[in-house]
Amino acid sequence: MSFADLHVALPILRAIAECGYEKPTPIQAEAIPPALAGRDLIASAKTGTGKTAAFMIPTLQHLFEVSAGRKRGPRVLVLTPTRELADQITEATRRYGKYLRVKSITIFGGMPYPKQIQELTKLPDLVVATPGRLIDHLHRGRINLSGLEVLILDEADRMLDMGFIEDVKKIVAAAPDKRQTLLFGATLDDSVARLAGCLLKDPLRIQIADQKRTHENIEQRLHVVNDTRHKACILGHLIADSGLTRAIIFSATKRNADSLARMLHAQGHAAAAMHGDMKQSARNQTISNMRAGKIRLLVATDVAARGLDVTGISHIINYDLPKTSEDYINRIGRTGRAGASGVAISLASYKDISDLDRIEHYLGQPLQQHVIPGLEPAFPLSTVLSNNSPLD
Ligand code: AMP
Repeated sequence: MSFADLHVALPILRAIAECGYEKPTPIQAEAIPPALAGRDLIASAKTGTGKTAAFMIPTLQHLFEVSAGRKRGPRVLVLTPTRELADQITEATRRYGKYLRVKSITIFGGMPYPKQIQELTKLPDLVVATPGRLIDHLHRGRINLSGLEVLILDEADRMLDMGFIEDVKKIVAAAPDKRQTLLFGATLDDSVARLAGCLLKDPLRIQIADQKRTHENIEQRLHVVNDTRHKACILGHLIADSGLTRAIIFSATKRNADSLARMLHAQGHAAAAMHGDMKQSARNQTISNMRAGKIRLLVATDVAARGLDVTGISHIINYDLPKTSEDYINRIGRTGRAGASGVAISLASYKDISDLDRIEHYLGQPLQQHVIPGLEPAFPLSTVLSNNSPLD
């Protein structure tokens, strides 16, 4: 299937071609035709599958095809859990809608109110928002959702996990019943199904290949480390690889992210940290520096990197192993996007055995152990596993 087979308008096709997309990803091929036909959708697709275009292409086509009536407020609302995701969706919308006259704005917490209020007065066609801040504007009568035609719930499962359910329900209550609703989530468990039950009308369910298959193009490796010094040496070796074009190095804490980024910077690497204590503007700057190729190594915490969409990330390095399998999957999903290949490397010491076990159990296979000549671990993993003895 090609994008032309989807029968979307030429200005949209042209913009997609300029993004370099050659053919629809599986979620796009499955979701776009029914969404264009006006169906409600409940779709399971992880980040990195091309889900943003899966909901945005039909939405832009709708805005193109159906002319606005007397405008009472936005025609499209996208709700998403985090500021980073909101930014990325707005940016993607601008890219896909480059040749259409669609005015879009972003509303999220942490952004100065005067700027947002001013944006709202521009009568946008499309609003991308996090639920908390949007509710605030809704309560103060600064936004009117009575003319909404399309409602998109992005990462609905995460919005529920983050406790946004009541906000989401209140927002939906302010929208008209006659609308199209597209719900996307990484996992569609019972709580999402319940939410979908009250928000969607006769939805079509779309399920794309499970998580394990989605990450087939990511090579996953493991390095066993003895102690912090050994770990730093292994990292030094890994980042000296010229095949590493851009990497995210995950750190367990904000403090360690800062100190590791500082150390790498002092060693002459184009490195920066990104974590929750940084101002939004500093985080945005870091992301755009990375997109522009000014930063090769981003040292981040899980929260900061959630939903981060920078293309061309060749490597993920788990300098500290994540605590949960879900975080592991989220982390490695930052590479190998939309069919590209990627490498995810985890560094683990004897202390991480139980976390490693859980991740491997979830993946259904052990991570492939790699050894760097001259930096061999003091004991092979099998010994570590059977003795579970401290090495440092
Ligand atoms: P998403 O899952 O929406 O976060 O998209 C993941 C990445 O895939 C983004 O960097 C998109 O720019 C890219 N992408 C989306 N659709 C396609 C496509 N059809 N072909 C190639 N890349 C795509």
